[in-house]
Amino acid sequence: ASAAMYQAKAQGRRSYLFFSGQTDASSSQRLLLENDLHRAIERGEFVLHYQPRYELASGMLCACEALLRWQHPTRGSISPVEFVPLAEESGLVVPIGEWVLREACQQLQRWHAKGLDVCPISVNISARQFRSLELLSMIRSVLDETGVDPRLLEVEITETTLMHNTEETLSILGQLHALGIKISVDDFGTGYSSLAYLKRFPVDLLKIDRSFVHDLVTDADDAIIVSAIIGLARSLQLRVVAEGVETPEQVDFLKRRGCDEVQGFLFSKPLPAAQIESLFNLRY
Ligand code: C2E
Ligand code: MG
Ligand code: MG
Ligand code: MG
Repeated sequence: ASAAMYQAKAQGRRSYLFFSGQTDASSSQRLLLENDLHRAIERGEFVLHYQPRYELASGMLCACEALLRWQHPTRGSISPVEFVPLAEESGLVVPIGEWVLREACQQLQRWHAKGLDVCPISVNISARQFRSLELLSMIRSVLDETGVDPRLLEVEITETTLMHNTEETLSILGQLHALGIKISVDDFGTGYSSLAYLKRFPVDLLKIDRSFVHDLVTDADDAIIVSAIIGLARSLQLRVVAEGVETPEQVDFLKRRGCDEVQGFLFSKPLPAAQIESLFNLRY
């Protein structure tokens, strides 16, 4: 039923665009892409890559982030930066997000079956997904179905998402937490600047947005912001991860400031599952 609904919505938008006489290349491109997105799950065009996260103190691999990749039959690999917003607008992000969680959990089970000592996986949850009424029941049923230990699962939610419907948000986060799932605030520093939610919500981890990490060494403001976020996280007893770490100089800075974990191209790009498994229990 939901697939039909998404289809109808897409159709509606198409006719609107037709009647409004909008024919520019970018909007018709978007429609073509959205149309293809409807079939991407059933056609098996999605794949997850995993990017390692390392603990600075020990150098150990401590988690990996599941990042969605779309292998389009004619356009090749399309970036999530391009298609996630489309999926978000059309509502397709709900079934796609379910696919992502199931695939990540099945991957954990495949690794278990091979006798591997796995690391936790973090999964990105979009704003629309977070607002969907079925999020909790969806997560519960995927965990049941796959038998994955919820402690091996982390969800990444952006600050902006956390600012909405605070009562409901508190309830959802509380229930996720009660299951044993960890909660990360993704792209930290780029959303609303109210920090009240950090006190109120059961958050475990802050991921410093890579836009602040990028010029850390040369831009005094970025250095101050990153230091402040690390200080804030430590005071609130949250773990803190720096995203987009690309240079040894950034690592030195982050180590000196007491950042807990790092993720970025310096350590590894997002990798297919087959390559991640050789990194379990290793240092960078
Ligand atoms: P994000 O969750 O903040 O993910 C981190 C992004 O930074 C990834 O881009 C990753 O490849 C990139 N990155 C990691 N290290 C470095 C680095 O050292 N330098 C640079 N320049 N980039 C680095 P990616 O995979 O293209 O994903 C982009 C965004 O798309 C994600 O940002 C997330 O918001 C969204 N996304 C990806 N997969 C999913 C998904 O399964 N569900 C949802 N809802 N969103 C997703
Ligand atoms: Mg993320
Ligand atoms: Mg991020
Ligand atoms: Mg992002």
